[in-house]
Amino acid sequence: MDSNAIQIRGLEKVYAAAGNHPEKVALKGVDLDVPEGSIFGLLGPNGAGKSTLINILAGLVIKTAGKVTIWGFDQDVNPRQSRASIGVMPQELNLDPFFTPRAALEVQAGLYGVPKSQRRTDEILEMIGLTDKAEAYARSLSGGMRRRLLLGKALVHHPRILVLDEPTAGVDIELRNMLWQNVRRLNEEGMTIILTTHYLEEAEQMCDEIAIINHGEVIARDTTAALVGRMDGKTLVIHPDGDVPDDLHLPAGVTMEKRRDGALAFSYRRGEIGTGAVLEAVRDAGLRMRDVATEEPDLEDVFVALTRSDDAAA
Ligand code: ADP
Ligand code: MG
Repeated sequence: MDSNAIQIRGLEKVYAAAGNHPEKVALKGVDLDVPEGSIFGLLGPNGAGKSTLINILAGLVIKTAGKVTIWGFDQDVNPRQSRASIGVMPQELNLDPFFTPRAALEVQAGLYGVPKSQRRTDEILEMIGLTDKAEAYARSLSGGMRRRLLLGKALVHHPRILVLDEPTAGVDIELRNMLWQNVRRLNEEGMTIILTTHYLEEAEQMCDEIAIINHGEVIARDTTAALVGRMDGKTLVIHPDGDVPDDLHLPAGVTMEKRRDGALAFSYRRGEIGTGAVLEAVRDAGLRMRDVATEEPDLEDVFVALTRSDDAAA
């Protein structure tokens, strides 16, 4: 096997029309490699196709076209082995309300054909902090406990690859920390981790590599460091007081744009030049200022920037 835990080529998904929902193209020819041993982030806005991709990996959604190789096993050629290599914590809380956590883990292990002697139910209950609740009905568990149980279920068959679909959307800080601790430890023990999130900061902290997906297409794929470097832009916004001099001499690496409201927006890279230097240059040029503010990019800016360059290339 090469060093990719997952290899995806030309992956397409079209959801058929149903009722008054028209046909939906959710994935448009995705190519993606996830290196073995990494914590890999799949980032994208709502409706981008993240869950569709993950559910295809999990074998829960049938792809329309393309090739998916999980731990060296082609999903179509070796469906059992590819399924056994991956554990998925889904986005939705789909638990049987009448199962206790212990029963849910045992049933899941049974589904994956894990022999009784190799089951680690107690160990998993301990890890997800549900030892005390082992015999409680799922319907009596809090939302956070149910999420933890979903994590446990994803782990019963000792998968090589763990996939978490928006594990921290709407969860409290404590659960979030607990999840990340577990994820880090599992990764240190050699497990490849794939997670989706729409929190850029979280992806930045957790992931070695990131793919950004939008409208069913991968629009960027890089190490986190390189992507964050790309997002290094900063903007100084100045509302001028009076006339703007014609010959504003700007330091190298600073570009200026006039906004509709009359403000001047000076863009530069944080890593290359300090805000103070930009401000000084503008002041030296004789520009009087009524108001000064800075803007830092967020994930949305990155999306806007990336999709804009896509349009330009097309
Ligand atoms: P994400 O997880 O990034 O929010 P999804 O993969 O859930 O995105 O959805 C991608 C697109 O596919 C969306 O437009 C969504 O409405 C559509 N979609 C998802 N699941 C289904 C389904 N079962 N039937 C029809 N359309 C779907
Ligand atoms: Mg989703």
